Amino acid sequence: MGCDGGTIPKRHELVKGPKKVEQVDKNAALIARWNYCAISQRPLRKPIVACELGRLYNKDVVIEYLLDTSPEKCIIETAAHIKNLKDVKELNLTDNPAWKGDKVNTKGDKYEDLQGAAFICPVVGLEMNGRQKFCYLRDCGCVFSERAMKEIKTEVCHKCGKPFKEDDVIILNGNKEEIADLQRKMEERKLKAKLLKKAKKSKAIESCVKSARTEANALSSSSSSTSTTGGKAEKPGKPVSGIAK
Ligand SMILES: [Zn+2]
Repeated sequence: MGCDGGTIPKRHELVKGPKKVEQVDKNAALIARWNYCAISQRPLRKPIVACELGRLYNKDVVIEYLLDTSPEKCIIETAAHIKNLKDVKELNLTDNPAWKGDKVNTKGDKYEDLQGAAFICPVVGLEMNGRQKFCYLRDCGCVFSERAMKEIKTEVCHKCGKPFKEDDVIILNGNKEEIADLQRKMEERKLKAKLLKKAKKSKAIESCVKSARTEANALSSSSSSTSTTGGKAEKPGKPVSGIAK
């Protein structure tokens, strides 16, 4: 007990239920991540894209963001790694047949948002509402629950049949550790792409030099054979203009 022995009661001793407040904040943040574009904070609408860190965006917003080169452009930290449209993937989402649209949610409190989701896992039917982990495949953009990926081992996409590797699975709205892991993988991929580009460039230069050499060789050998006829060919063009006047 405070107040009598000169001790000052702390806030959490007076205010009941600080944990509940935390929980509400957590839910609000969760709802925001799964329902709103990470750049514009507007509701997510198809076409929806995801970055390599597993954040969700409206495609048109990303395009707008990339096209904006004005000095007033406000750099959004969550999207700083998106340099061009190749850095995001359009998602192949499965509509939830039970979804009644956004209108339902405008009436109730925020908790109701967690009850319904616009999209589901096409394999096990789980709703994509933030309670279950979901992921997408980098190559085809198809979206699944993590449970489906774990329960049904496969090397081809459940939805479109395209083959994929484990590194192509990107967790959507993951936790800190998952995002750190995705960040590391993204940087590795970028480095690889850079090195590959460099290798291709040097190879291209090499082949350019080679073909230039062979061309030069061909020219020198052909010029030596044509040089004898070249002298004769010059004669007919010259005298005509002199006689005309
Ligand atoms: Zn697919």
